[in-house]
Amino acid sequence: MARRFEISTLGVRAGTARSQCHEHSEALYLTSSFVFEDAAAAAAGFGGTGDEFVYSRYTNPTVTMMQDRLAALEGAEACVATASGMAAIFSLAMVLLKAGDHVVCSNAVFGATVQLYATLLAKFGVETSFVPPSKPQEWRRALRPTTKLLFLETPSNPLGEVADIAALATLARQAGAVLAVDNVLCTPALQRPIALGADFVVHSATKHLDGQGRVLGGAVCGAKGPVMDGLVGFLRTAGPTISPFNAWVIHRGMETLELRMLAQSERALELARWLEGHSKVARVYYTGLPSHPQHELAMRQQRAGGAVVSFDIKGGREDAWKLIDSTEMISITGNLGDVRTTITHPATTTHGRLTPEARAAAGIGDGLIRLAVGLEAIEDLKVDLERGLA
Ligand SMILES: *Cc1c(COP(=O)(O)O)cnc(C)c1O
Repeated sequence: MARRFEISTLGVRAGTARSQCHEHSEALYLTSSFVFEDAAAAAAGFGGTGDEFVYSRYTNPTVTMMQDRLAALEGAEACVATASGMAAIFSLAMVLLKAGDHVVCSNAVFGATVQLYATLLAKFGVETSFVPPSKPQEWRRALRPTTKLLFLETPSNPLGEVADIAALATLARQAGAVLAVDNVLCTPALQRPIALGADFVVHSATKHLDGQGRVLGGAVCGAKGPVMDGLVGFLRTAGPTISPFNAWVIHRGMETLELRMLAQSERALELARWLEGHSKVARVYYTGLPSHPQHELAMRQQRAGGAVVSFDIKGGREDAWKLIDSTEMISITGNLGDVRTTITHPATTTHGRLTPEARAAAGIGDGLIRLAVGLEAIEDLKVDLERGLA
């Protein structure tokens, strides 16, 4: 299906496998195991290629449908779903890397991703260099003969730094390494890294793919081959498998993915414009604004700016907290990718464990506020924010 249909069609039509009951809506297979006709069939199932349904730690029909839909959306040959986004990033690292290998990673990736590479994988002899996402020459300089993986997230959260996916894919290829892109902020509705040359896409399906803040999930997409096969084997052996229920929720979430991403991006852009013109706002970070230093590159690889808008207010932590506490509708929570708008103060929440120096180096000021814009009416969002800004 991947080549013949548009994103909107794939979102509602790809990854459907009807049972003998001919159900229209995709079935939820809540079963831990599958039965066999006889002992010989069981032996064949356990020794088989992995396509047979044996046990839900290996495969499950609902999970397979979710994987097929996401693979189609990303334009990938294969997809392996995992229990969470971090499980996806960890599983890919475990399959790709061994002791002595080196990783070049953007320094503006999700906090737990930094921890994963900097501490957990370091314990097993994998070394990681962290470089700015927007400076390809620093990626080139960080390469070593042992570099096996380039890992990035674009645009970054919360500051919207943009990495040039095509340029870094070329660099990875020249270095004999692979490029993996965390596509959580844009989703395939807005950005398709594989078409730009990336080898793997990782997802936290917890965010926009579900879209309604209900379940955790993750996924890795890529070409058929040893790595994707290795991931299937890794899940079977190590067990960070997604629950069929969560896969079913995410499968349904993807039906409205494109509509939501376009509508949320439209609201985010309007809010970003309004904030940029506001006397109490010092700076707005949003790739959709022409004033964004990498606006041109962002609009070349993204269809729209996405839902995350960050801004520095004129003032410090107290003023930022006052603004957050003056909202009555917007949810004060660290999650993003929900149809309900959320607000956070990165310096004291998502980036609170960094030292003040590290935070300053990352550009996370005390007056920085992050919004993840949902589907509420733009006027209601402005009223809720204006109370604190005034
Ligand atoms: C949330 C998030 C993750 C981790 O996903 P979980 O589902 O919470 O494990 C990874 N990358 C990005 C960009 C995220 O926002």
